Amino acid sequence: MTNIGYAQHPEIRLNQVRMNTSETQLRREICDIGRRMHTAGLVAGTDGNISARLGNNRFLITPSGSCLGLMEPRDLAVINSKGEALPGSSKPSSERWMHLCAYERRPDIQAAIHAHPPTTIALTLAGVAFDPCALPEVIIAFGRVPVTAYATPATEEGAVVIREWISRYDALALDRHGSLTVGKTLYDALFKLEKLEHGAHVIFMAHQLGRVKSLPPEEISKLASLREHFGLGRADDISPQCLPPGTVSPRITRGPDSY
Ligand SMILES: [Zn+2]
Repeated sequence: MTNIGYAQHPEIRLNQVRMNTSETQLRREICDIGRRMHTAGLVAGTDGNISARLGNNRFLITPSGSCLGLMEPRDLAVINSKGEALPGSSKPSSERWMHLCAYERRPDIQAAIHAHPPTTIALTLAGVAFDPCALPEVIIAFGRVPVTAYATPATEEGAVVIREWISRYDALALDRHGSLTVGKTLYDALFKLEKLEHGAHVIFMAHQLGRVKSLPPEEISKLASLREHFGLGRADDISPQCLPPGTVSPRITRGPDSY
């Protein structure tokens, strides 16, 4: 386990005593979610990272090089909005730039999860579209699942490629790399990750069986209305190619159009 010395440092023990209840709870939740992700195969080895907003420009994030399935609450790092580790913190994840970009672009979110869900990644490798017109539950929940441009992992490029997409969508597939899901709570972001990978697996299986049948535009329009009705996003978050002509005016013009 990493950071055994960290927990023994007297200054850190003091910080832990001062830790408020909500931070304590968030630390526990991040460790619980890390175990669930590792057990479910949504990450392998030391892959993936989880973060939560603490307020006052402070963020909890999983430490660099740690296995998400084996973390203890004391192992987590605390960073500011510049990505700097606060005194006494463990070394933060090298993907913190992607997380910080999501928080900057989305004041409404409290948590972000980066994972390596295998079927989602496989679809990006094969160039197979996460069909935006096929799965009603995915359409209601996400609108669509954009695939970002490729970025070298563990660099600030991770922030660049998500920047426009994350402003509008809660679940992104990162080309050749993984996923980013955001939510109003940590479990909200986890459930979106599970839903993303489940949908990708269904699409994968459908391709094994034959053609993927898309829903007709009029049915997609109903789902778009439901998405807005449930407060999950705007009706025009749906991929334009799924809707009847003239019913959508997408506000994002950058990025791939295949999803
Ligand atoms: Zn990664």
